[in-house]
Amino acid sequence: MSTRCRGLTQVLGNDRRQALAMLLGGGLAGAALGAPRQAFGGATLMAPFPGDEHFMRMAIAEAARADLPFGTVIVRDGDVLSTGRNLGRTTNDPTAHGEMVAIRRFVAVRPAAELQGTTLYTSGEPCPMCMSAILWCGIGRLVFAASIDELATELGQIMLTSRQVADAAPFAAITITGGVLSAEALALFPK
Ligand SMILES: [Zn+2]
Repeated sequence: MSTRCRGLTQVLGNDRRQALAMLLGGGLAGAALGAPRQAFGGATLMAPFPGDEHFMRMAIAEAARADLPFGTVIVRDGDVLSTGRNLGRTTNDPTAHGEMVAIRRFVAVRPAAELQGTTLYTSGEPCPMCMSAILWCGIGRLVFAASIDELATELGQIMLTSRQVADAAPFAAITITGGVLSAEALALFPK
């Protein structure tokens, strides 16, 4: 008997038949025991929407004038609410990634709660710092161009994907779409 099953039988006063019935036949109970975080948090991967390229072009335009070629726009219902680009050198701040700059600009003029349910477009898949910020802010959808793997061929990366970070956050649910105009985003890196 597995450790989990033994533990469960103890909880239930050693009624093994009841415990096994829960594990084997009690679909919801078994699923909840096995993967509670999937009940709410984590990443859902999604295909691109028709308008995604339009907003990604804006993010890539931001990236084109950044210290390092990363740019972001935050959108709700077709309206761009904030933009950001990497300003690490300009502001002497290694955390001034495009996503962080866009979030900071947003909350400088709007209630942070209004970030909930927005879509963040970014030319490069968010690093773990930015992805954590995205989750803390309750941003509902992430769309990125170049993946961490692709970016790592151009610049050092922390090799955790946005999905891996999201799947470790049981308090937040987010949908993720990757690969939108990735070639255009990668073309901004000097050859
Ligand atoms: Zn980042």
